[in-house]
Amino acid sequence: MTDQTLLILGASGDLTARLLLPGLGKLLELGGAKDIALVGSGMDDWDDERWRARVRESFGRDEEIDARYLRADVTDGDDLTRLLDACHGEIVIFFALPPSVTAKACAALRDVGLPPGTRLVLEKPFGVDEKTAHALNALLVQLVPEARIHRVDHFLGKSTVLNILGLRFANRIFEPVLTNQHVESVDIVFDEDLGLESRAGYYDGAGALVDMIQSHLLQILAMIAMDAPPSLDAHEFRDSKAQVLRATHVWGDDPRTASRRARYTAGTIGERSLPSYADEPGVDAARGTETLAEVVLAVDTWRWAGVPFRLRSGKAVGNRRKEAVVTFKPAPWVPTGLTGPDRPDRLRILFSPDRLELDLDINGPGDPFVLDPVTLGSDFGPGALPPYGEVLRGVLEDDPTLSVRGDTAEMCWHIVQPVIDAWRAGEVPLQEYPAGSAGPSDSLLPG
Ligand code: NDP
Repeated sequence: MTDQTLLILGASGDLTARLLLPGLGKLLELGGAKDIALVGSGMDDWDDERWRARVRESFGRDEEIDARYLRADVTDGDDLTRLLDACHGEIVIFFALPPSVTAKACAALRDVGLPPGTRLVLEKPFGVDEKTAHALNALLVQLVPEARIHRVDHFLGKSTVLNILGLRFANRIFEPVLTNQHVESVDIVFDEDLGLESRAGYYDGAGALVDMIQSHLLQILAMIAMDAPPSLDAHEFRDSKAQVLRATHVWGDDPRTASRRARYTAGTIGERSLPSYADEPGVDAARGTETLAEVVLAVDTWRWAGVPFRLRSGKAVGNRRKEAVVTFKPAPWVPTGLTGPDRPDRLRILFSPDRLELDLDINGPGDPFVLDPVTLGSDFGPGALPPYGEVLRGVLEDDPTLSVRGDTAEMCWHIVQPVIDAWRAGEVPLQEYPAGSAGPSDSLLPG
């Protein structure tokens, strides 16, 4: 008998094939999970063999897999009962479904009832605003206790993001200077050179603010800004993150000056020609969805008061840039006689490739009284597990440390809600930038 069954709702979808199954495959390969049965379901009329082929393809290897597929409408109680009956041992239900279907499936599961010990795994976006996130949380805790609800943010499974903990809290030299006395600003940027990539169905309803800033980039902000938790157990770690996010709000509480939104027009990136976002198949141009968003946030704590945290994410940007950059204030005094560039010291945490860099000015070669800019850098390579594997390990071991807690999910909406409201009210114009360019010219981040 198998110990656990992973019940994947949305087995035929993109997330399951591209991220969930490859992450699981790697986790199993490295021995990081117990023997597990896979029950997949979707509206498609697949059979067991087609599902097993999908699993084998995503795992990237040919092995015997305890996998079954059941066609089901997950908003229907009888279908859900059939699915639960097909599971053995502990049940982990992964909702790889469109968000509106997830909410309906949860409502139906409340009526069906769940076996004790069942865990629920939910994808982003968690709700579509603060109110719907609150309602979804209220529904979920009627199904299982909070500790068994895993809200996935796979950025928390990225090795570089997790390395922020080691960098900050296992070394003496950075933590004392990560304060408003020494830090000028923090930029968290996730610019990609890819355009829509046929994902209009999801993306056109979300946009860059919700797709990236409300979820992933706020989690990174929390990792950079939180105080050291006494331990990395789920309770302490998630408390520290929640505490700092509670203190976070739009800079000056004015989204008109502290946010930007823009969408790409036709352009070229390398050899690739991209059509205007508005002309991509499936896009409703009148909706005015942004493909690039910037928000400046304040963190009202003793440590960070007065330091702007500038978050930005864009699609179809010429220069891929995926990093968090801490820019330090100038040295209070440089002895007369030492000359050279006055480039600020910077700590760069690069997310792709995984790398750490420290920009400094030192007495380089040549005239010893002339400063030269240097960069100390180290690649630390990706983790053994892909981010989804890391997150799934926590889910399967029933350790919610890397899952987003319910209050935090709501808080992240609360932080960006004034921006959403201002954009809806037309208080911040939707700008345009050619695909392949650096984005709108009046960016809130320095070039
Ligand atoms: P897809 O549209 O590719 O897949 C959705 C899946 O849900 C399909 O398997 C579909 O089955 C199934 N489904 C829809 N309605 C029902 C129903 N009533 N009963 C049973 N099954 C149903 O979506 P994605 O995989 O892209 O996204 C899934 C979730 O993951 C979303 O919440 C998304 O925001 C999130 N996500 C996705 C990422 C990605 O890269 N794809 C990245 C991060 C998060 P069928 O095809 O048979 O109709």
